[in-house]
Amino acid sequence: MTCRVIAVANQKGGVGKTTTVVNLAAGLAEMGRRVLIVDLDPQGNATMGSGIAKGSLTNSVYQVLLGDASVAEARQPAKEGGYHVLPANRDVGGAELELVHELAREARLKNALGEVLGEYDYIFVDCPPSLNLLTLNGLVAAESVLIPMVCEYYALEGLSDLVTTLRKVRVAVNPKIEILGLLRTMFDARSNLSQQVSQQLARHFGDKVFDTVIPRNVRLAEAPSHGLPGLIYDRNSRGAQAYLTLAAELTARLESATPSLSH
Ligand code: ATP
Ligand code: MG
Repeated sequence: MTCRVIAVANQKGGVGKTTTVVNLAAGLAEMGRRVLIVDLDPQGNATMGSGIAKGSLTNSVYQVLLGDASVAEARQPAKEGGYHVLPANRDVGGAELELVHELAREARLKNALGEVLGEYDYIFVDCPPSLNLLTLNGLVAAESVLIPMVCEYYALEGLSDLVTTLRKVRVAVNPKIEILGLLRTMFDARSNLSQQVSQQLARHFGDKVFDTVIPRNVRLAEAPSHGLPGLIYDRNSRGAQAYLTLAAELTARLESATPSLSH
């Protein structure tokens, strides 16, 4: 199976990007897929949420972006969950500044990942909540973007900024990039607003909207403080079960179109 590199992005903060990355990684690993998370966020939330101490990193995605370490040198196994993490901490914010002076600055991550593509079925890039050079590195490295979003009043406006950015990225640096899907997170099925925004999303994006919705679920929010994906922290919670359903929907979308001869 060829490796799928998926950027998880939305410049709006706190919409469930990291929660989605960590739980999809654990879900797909459980299904036997080989998964790497690239933490591109100086907050290091995906790193910590995978049980890796961000304070004591010898190598992080920072050294990788600046060409001072390879992905193989910097990656680490998640504490539990069966996937790998290219970790991040606050230093990565500095990488953004230093990169400005480098050649091919927006293709640093893509070039670095080249050497490990054969080792993974899925690479998820957890982008920071902005459209900066770090996020641009994620969008250049990826073949598609998964966009988590909360169905609230201004959600669609925020999306149009992201869609504009994707259009520019397509023209300038990565003609292949497409939207893999929009994921409704922290969903409250009883709220009229959620239903209205859902309908608008379907009108604008059609079948790009994942059928699976992720409910608001406190177990998903508790899990990172234990350094665990929600899926491992409380497998039977509604949130964990929703991410398992999402992992199945994702593989059905991505893997059924091109039947592999090796299976
Ligand atoms: P940032 O933009 O800061 O990187 P993010 O988009 O990565 O944020 P998360 O960190 O995944 O978003 O989620 C934001 C907060 O909401 C976290 O505290 C997380 O634990 C919580 N959270 C995420 N998804 C859910 C959910 N489905 N139900 C309840 N809480 C959730
Ligand atoms: Mg995050």
